[in-house]
Amino acid sequence: MESLKQKILTEGKVLSDSVVKVDSFLNHQVDPAFMHAIGEAFASHFAGSNITKILTLESSGIAPAVMTGLCMDVPVIFARKRKSLTLNEGLYSADVYSYTKEETNQISLSDDYITSEDTILIIDDILANGQAALGLVDLTEQAGAALEGIGIVVEKGFQKGKAMLSDRGIRVESLATIASLKNGRITFENEEAI
Ligand code: 5GP
Repeated sequence: MESLKQKILTEGKVLSDSVVKVDSFLNHQVDPAFMHAIGEAFASHFAGSNITKILTLESSGIAPAVMTGLCMDVPVIFARKRKSLTLNEGLYSADVYSYTKEETNQISLSDDYITSEDTILIIDDILANGQAALGLVDLTEQAGAALEGIGIVVEKGFQKGKAMLSDRGIRVESLATIASLKNGRITFENEEAI
């Protein structure tokens, strides 16, 4: 997605050879019109599939997931990183190691919202080593739902998440794939799906 690559180039800040900061449009501030275009891109890519629900992880997955749900006219569910008084029973849970926070969170999803009748599209903000995505796949499997695929806004292609998920037979579509962050420079792979 060309406009996304431009946004990453102009607004992204390279923090190290492996971490890019994209707070201005993905991880802190949200540009609704741009996020809507991201939703349209995912919807067009997964058009024709029988997706009944979109699953993401709070918090940065919510904006692209909601826009995709709007464009595909299906509900959006976000897994929670913390349990609460209102989310404490009838839960599917999985442990997820956070790449940026360097801690393990137990993510949870109420069994009210995904059933074996559902076909799920997982949407997330950034793919690094794939632990967040794998946790969401785990929740989908626990619910007995079918998985159509995973849509990622920004994939870091030099990390192992995509290969690990593809090896499991999971379809992963990324709107922009970063090939390298070396020397403070962002370069992209040419093989974006959209
Ligand atoms: P993974 O589970 O694939 O290793 O990491 C994915 C999660 O870690 C993403 O949802 C994202 O929040 C965070 N993350 C991983 N790498 C980066 C990065 O380079 N920049 C930012 N802003 N977040 C990242």
